[in-house]
Amino acid sequence: MPRKATFIPYQPKTILNKSKRPDHWFWTRYSAYPYIGCQHGCEFCYCRERKYAPYDNIDDFPYIIKVKENVPTLLRRALTRAPVDPVFTGDYQPAERKFGLSRKMLEICLELGFPVFVLERSPLVLRDLDLLKAIQERAQAVVAFSIISTPDSPEHNRVRQLERLAPPPEKRFDAMEKFAAAGILTGTCLMPILPGLCDDNANLEAVVRRTADHGGRFVLASSLTLSDQQRTYFFDVLSSRFPDLLQLYQSTYPEGSYNPAGDVWRQTALRVRAYCQQYGLSDRIPRPIIPGDKRTVNKRFVERLVNQVYTMELNDEPAHRVWPYRKAAWAIEDLEQDIRLIYRMMGLKGLQSIRDVSERLAQTIEGWLKAL
Ligand code: SF4
Repeated sequence: MPRKATFIPYQPKTILNKSKRPDHWFWTRYSAYPYIGCQHGCEFCYCRERKYAPYDNIDDFPYIIKVKENVPTLLRRALTRAPVDPVFTGDYQPAERKFGLSRKMLEICLELGFPVFVLERSPLVLRDLDLLKAIQERAQAVVAFSIISTPDSPEHNRVRQLERLAPPPEKRFDAMEKFAAAGILTGTCLMPILPGLCDDNANLEAVVRRTADHGGRFVLASSLTLSDQQRTYFFDVLSSRFPDLLQLYQSTYPEGSYNPAGDVWRQTALRVRAYCQQYGLSDRIPRPIIPGDKRTVNKRFVERLVNQVYTMELNDEPAHRVWPYRKAAWAIEDLEQDIRLIYRMMGLKGLQSIRDVSERLAQTIEGWLKAL
């Protein structure tokens, strides 16, 4: 008989994880989640890492769900004091039907004017389309679907075995179409790309093509990561179900390696980029504009620099060429003033006086300012 989930009430002391700067994938600076454990139980899930999964027995991860009952109170308190920036939130596993905490969190984001980024494997997120539309009108809502394989892929059945408790990708694509029709930015997170299971060209192209067919505008690609107890768990799964893949994973993820070794990720991301170009999509997400934000131009420039960093990494440019762009992006992110004001008052010298902005980059930024 299939094991049933047990729900345990839990009262954390804090709910909002804050970073100094937004991340450069989703543009979120905050994250907040209502549950610990996930009933979808994907075998590759990084949430089985020790820091996210406080279980004595890791097999309990999809079956013992901690429900953070005081989430609404904590989130309201934390966001009331925080500068407005996007929040990575939502969790639409089956527990959400019973407890509705993701919905309550969206209500608070809407009320306080915070943009949101939701990443889902379940079409249950459609239940909150009304709220997400309202957030989109006030700030910005992005709804992405985790889709790593489609029925067009030769290995689809094996991938489905690894995410067998999650709704099938066809349902996620249908949901994507509805969000797109509602005017909400949507697309696919091809995460994690599993070597030997979903990194073949047929699958990568099918994911991108279906995303385009269902109104998605982006496909973000990233590798599987393996760490501590999650690594042990995943290798045990491979040994028992797909022993033919063990050698490939042992060489791609040698002992102690969190990311795939060598050039694996870059080569895959380049192919995803090429398919995105072919189907008119992007492999990046546009940074949300926050209404009334005095630093919108700064943030747009940070976005350009960060996208340049991504392209340089894909092109395998040496680190000493990439780092100046990354550091300049951080410095402009940290500016209190509108960069246009600095340029108006001090010209090129003003741009060069910004920490970590070189003479060459200052000239590039001057060109951007002149083109505004
Ligand atoms: S749906 Fe996402 S959070 Fe849940 S188990 Fe799968 S990968 Fe992990």
